[in-house]
Amino acid sequence: MRVLIRGAGVAGLTAAHELLARGAEVTVVENAAGFTGAASWYAGGMLAPWCERESAEETVLTLGIGATDWWEAALPAGSVHRNGTLVVAQPRDGAELKRFA
Ligand SMILES: Cc1cc2nc3c(=O)[nH]c(=O)nc-3n(C[C@H](O)[C@H](O)[C@H](O)COP(=O)(O)OP(=O)(O)OC[C@H]3O[C@@H](n4cnc5c(N)ncnc54)[C@H](O)[C@@H]3O)c2cc1C
Repeated sequence: MRVLIRGAGVAGLTAAHELLARGAEVTVVENAAGFTGAASWYAGGMLAPWCERESAEETVLTLGIGATDWWEAALPAGSVHRNGTLVVAQPRDGAELKRFA
């Protein structure tokens, strides 16, 4: 199977990585000369599915946990750090913080 992927952001490169692993012939085409305009270039690289679950449906949590496992398997050993999530809030948002906890 031959696949053309437009965009070398995290979505395009992740898809390319996965398709290559499954034996596809992949070409990635990027519009920008550098990646400085892409969201992927600025991202914190942080996955916090439990925090996202606070305002999103269960699927977001399930996929987020799966994504963390995926990155750990895909990247060189030691690249993914699991340090939990620290949630902080202004005193005025104390009630929300309690609900979240
Ligand atoms: C400041 C910041 C911090 C963030 N922090 C996090 C974080 O900690 N954790 C997290 O999960 N998410 C974070 N995000 C969100 C995350 O960065 C984006 O959801 C993600 O990078 C989107 O990736 P993408 O590949 O879909 O898009 P992009 O990174 O925007 O990549 C799309 C690429 O496609 C190219 N392109 C567009 N059209 C074409 C075309 N027709 N032909 C060829 N190329 C094309 C663009 O030039 C671009 O390079 C953050 C975002 C920002 C801005």
